[in-house]
Amino acid sequence: MKRIGVFTSGGDAPGMNAALRAVVRTASGMGVEVVGIRRGYAGMIDGEFVPLGPRDVANIIQRGGTILLTARSKDFMTEAGRATAARNLKEAGIEGLVAIGGDGTFRGAERLIEEHRIPVVGVPGTIDNDLYGTDYTIGFDTAVNTALDAIDRIRDTAASHERVFFIEVMGRYAGFIALEVGIAGGAEVVALPEVSISPEEIARTISASLEKGKRSSIIVVAEGAYPGGAEALFRAVRELSGFEARVTVLGHIQRGGSPTAKDRVLASRLGAVATRTLVGGTSGVMVGEVEGEVTLTPLYEAVTKKKEIDIDLYELARVLSG
Ligand code: ADP
Repeated sequence: MKRIGVFTSGGDAPGMNAALRAVVRTASGMGVEVVGIRRGYAGMIDGEFVPLGPRDVANIIQRGGTILLTARSKDFMTEAGRATAARNLKEAGIEGLVAIGGDGTFRGAERLIEEHRIPVVGVPGTIDNDLYGTDYTIGFDTAVNTALDAIDRIRDTAASHERVFFIEVMGRYAGFIALEVGIAGGAEVVALPEVSISPEEIARTISASLEKGKRSSIIVVAEGAYPGGAEALFRAVRELSGFEARVTVLGHIQRGGSPTAKDRVLASRLGAVATRTLVGGTSGVMVGEVEGEVTLTPLYEAVTKKKEIDIDLYELARVLSG
């Protein structure tokens, strides 16, 4: 391959820039040109291509978000949209793609491979950590640390005012962020989409905590753990028990920020391997890290197989909340 394209797509995640830098510099070291595609699949359809050399990715390893910008594209969900994208890529002499994004991005990549024979290798960039084939996705560690920092601050207030706080963290379908910050933040209850927990159980836990002499509690709730999120869950608990609490929704604060060292290293490693894999002639796979080793997983497995939460960790959260 003489020229490859790289793009970021779907939700932004800290470390996407570090992955981009690794792609550009690895390719350059192999004598391969890199074209950056702005705004994900939307920019692919609109032909927003920029040549990227090693100097163009200087000073971005520490920056959150993505300098290539990201977007969601309805047009790319249509065959006609994808045909335009493929034509643009071919006209620009782009022979293969490194796609940095989440499961939607990889579903789109699969279509490009099948319909237009354009080779693609995926790099898992999403704060949700919900991709099969990698222990951690790029951005997850940063998001966890950001949420944890917020929870630590809220705990100060909870303790000072002897209050219960319900804190909603991101995770509509997956509770990875909630579980990790729940343990690290010493939450009394962790509510995840994967494990059902009733308002009755939470009310019981809060009253048991009060009996044990605890004057404040932190309940970490993943967005998708209860219909209507933390606010609705709190109302249901109050209805049953009369407990008062404050609700804080952390929201988009969890998405941005300078990536942690762990995310930068993961992004650098996976970006480099993805580039070597693509240029070496392999397509249709996602690079990941499993038990410290770099692995390749077929894209269809990465998006269709479910990564399970660690149930032992969930049990640990329950035991340690005592
Ligand atoms: P993420 O990659 O973070 O999961 P999205 O789910 O928003 O983000 O997906 C990013 C983009 O990928 C979508 O806006 C769309 O253009 C494209 N995409 C997602 N699913 C498909 C699909 N099934 N077929 C074609 N393109 C898709």
